[in-house]
Amino acid sequence: MTTAALSANAQTIETDAVIVGAGPVGLFQVFELGLLEIKAHIIDSLAYPGGQCVELYPDKPIYDIPAVPVCTGQELTDNLLKQIEPFGATFHLGQEVTQVEKQADGRLLVATSKGTTFLSKTVFIAGGVGSFQPRTLKVDGLRAFEEQQVFYRVKNPAQFAGKNLIVVGGGDSALDWALNFAQEGPNKAESVILIHRRDVFRAAPASVAKMKELCDAYEMQFIVGQVTGIEAAGGTLKQLKVTGSDGVTRLVPLDMLLVFFGLSPKLGPIAEWGLGIERKQITVDTEKFQTTTPGIFAVGDINVYPGKKKLILSGFHEAALAAFGASPIVFPEKRVLLQYTTTSPKLHKVLGVESPVFD
Ligand SMILES: Cc1cc2nc3c(=O)[nH]c(=O)nc-3n(C[C@H](O)[C@H](O)[C@H](O)COP(=O)(O)OP(=O)(O)OC[C@H]3O[C@@H](n4cnc5c(N)ncnc54)[C@H](O)[C@@H]3O)c2cc1C
Repeated sequence: MTTAALSANAQTIETDAVIVGAGPVGLFQVFELGLLEIKAHIIDSLAYPGGQCVELYPDKPIYDIPAVPVCTGQELTDNLLKQIEPFGATFHLGQEVTQVEKQADGRLLVATSKGTTFLSKTVFIAGGVGSFQPRTLKVDGLRAFEEQQVFYRVKNPAQFAGKNLIVVGGGDSALDWALNFAQEGPNKAESVILIHRRDVFRAAPASVAKMKELCDAYEMQFIVGQVTGIEAAGGTLKQLKVTGSDGVTRLVPLDMLLVFFGLSPKLGPIAEWGLGIERKQITVDTEKFQTTTPGIFAVGDINVYPGKKKLILSGFHEAALAAFGASPIVFPEKRVLLQYTTTSPKLHKVLGVESPVFD
């Protein structure tokens, strides 16, 4: 566990289970815990659930989910969200879990980047390949201006209104925000310049066409080039050095810079929670998928054990066994028996469905 000071406070949420990561496996962990009447809070650094399925391949077909011949990454996520609805898990999105610390009473204190804290009997790490972080623009001196003039996500569009704005990138986020700030609206910028290293875009063709239309109408500008340096004065970022495809470097003045280079996963703080780690994955047993710290389980792509295959269906199996492994910690007095969702009136009750009558 990390040694940084961390303490519970009046707002600390007391719970039975915290799930780190709302990818497919974290979502199914809610279901398996729910069947055993264990309520969960689920946290993800992304602003939406689905993990890799939504972040990396929302429209691509998946063919190896049992009994689902084909579904896209987004459809799988939507169906999992529907399936876990009865269990009323609380979602905490857009915040990274930064710390997990064992307390004297055996519970786990969990803290996020937004300052939310939890005291939980169990923790399920379903962190996949790590938390997705924006890829940064690597230019000397730029870092000092982050969150002042340089941004990798738009949290508050109003702060860009009336500014001379440069947007860098060629994907949907770059085009969508450039168009948003270039057009009439409450957050219209004074000027918008889009910079991309080539005249070919990953963004939707309709957005690219709109951007070209606005450039033709002198309502925004597009520059093919790469940001190679900055000029600052008096602690303020004043100009970007942009090197064009012709090899010439030009100075472009600005008030604010928005960079959209996509997201890349980083194991991040998970590596510092004192758990057994092998090649950036968490070691677990294969009985309960428990880590080297009792009460902390790891499921899905984040774990490693002999024969591990990074498949969604493997993660689903692990989530089921981890939930059974956690039950004696959450309910020490309770004897938990395996029941079928088909026939168990008790499971029908927790699922909120009517018990069918069998002949
Ligand atoms: C292009 C592509 C195609 C694929 N096709 C298939 C396929 O056909 N079949 C198949 O079975 N598998 C497929 N996979 C693999 C599959 O997507 C993964 O096995 C699956 O997503 C793992 O799920 P997970 O929930 O363990 O992790 P992820 O989906 O990686 O989700 C983990 C989540 O945890 C969050 N997180 C991590 N650390 C933190 C933290 N500290 N705080 C807060 N949040 C955190 C991340 O932001 C992320 O949202 C494919 C993968 C790719 C890239």
